[in-house]
Amino acid sequence: MGLLSGKTAIITGASKGIGKGIAETFAKEGANVAFTYLSSVEKGQALEEELKQYGTTVKGYRSDASKMEDAEALVAQVVEDFGGVDIVVNNAGITKDMLLMRMTEEDFTRVIEVNLNSVFNMTKAVQRTFLKQRSGSIVNISSVVGVKGNAGQANYAASKAGIIGFTKSVALELGSRNIRCNAIAPGFIETEMTAVLDEKTVQQWRDGIPLKRGGSPEDVANACLFLASDMSGYITGQVMNVCGGMLT
Ligand code: NAP
Repeated sequence: MGLLSGKTAIITGASKGIGKGIAETFAKEGANVAFTYLSSVEKGQALEEELKQYGTTVKGYRSDASKMEDAEALVAQVVEDFGGVDIVVNNAGITKDMLLMRMTEEDFTRVIEVNLNSVFNMTKAVQRTFLKQRSGSIVNISSVVGVKGNAGQANYAASKAGIIGFTKSVALELGSRNIRCNAIAPGFIETEMTAVLDEKTVQQWRDGIPLKRGGSPEDVANACLFLASDMSGYITGQVMNVCGGMLT
């Protein structure tokens, strides 16, 4: 029996990186997994094949997390395909890093839409299902950058700080219905998102982390497993830093 046996999870943005790690960990722990992707169609299809080995129901959906109508259609389809939803992990995210001096309105707005509106969209879309069953766990992927800011990431930091305020508010609103909402703030996790950085910069990041390494998608997935499962049944409105000690 896995920690998520019999539960159905929706994970957004799971074609690669942290989302993929979460999908793998959840399926290994017995969850039925519905996951999304947008541009990486082949990777999404490959993940669906890979996850079948764990013997639960798995399905990938092409769905734009930044669009409310996509979120509503996704939840309706997942309820039809899986018979319900117990867990939502809002993981889809992008960066468009640059100094404020050069940042356009489009650079700012797009990052907010994909990273923050997406969390609102999915939470709204799944709310009625969770209210009816009087249970549900929402895990939102924020960032240490949302907690402490970062030069060159004003758009991204604003989106990730917004997720924290949203998470705490939803926890207060829905706690009485046994719906929990928590956030994870990953530190420096080595994925395609960070692969754009040069090796020297990456090494500087690693050296500055108390545990002396970048995190892996599995490191984040394990925290996410805990917050999604009944093991964390008395935890809501919290931000868990998964950052090798970057934030103390
Ligand atoms: P990644 O490797 O770039 O993966 C991002 C995922 O999000 C991909 O599966 C991508 O799917 C999906 N995605 C992007 N836009 C989407 C949209 N509009 N609709 C649906 N899916 C979309 O990034 P990652 O490093 O795994 O990051 C995952 C999350 O962790 C993000 O929220 C990120 O901000 C957060 N985070 C990352 C780090 C880090 O150091 N890596 C640190 C803190 C927080 P497609 O490719 O199919 O579009």
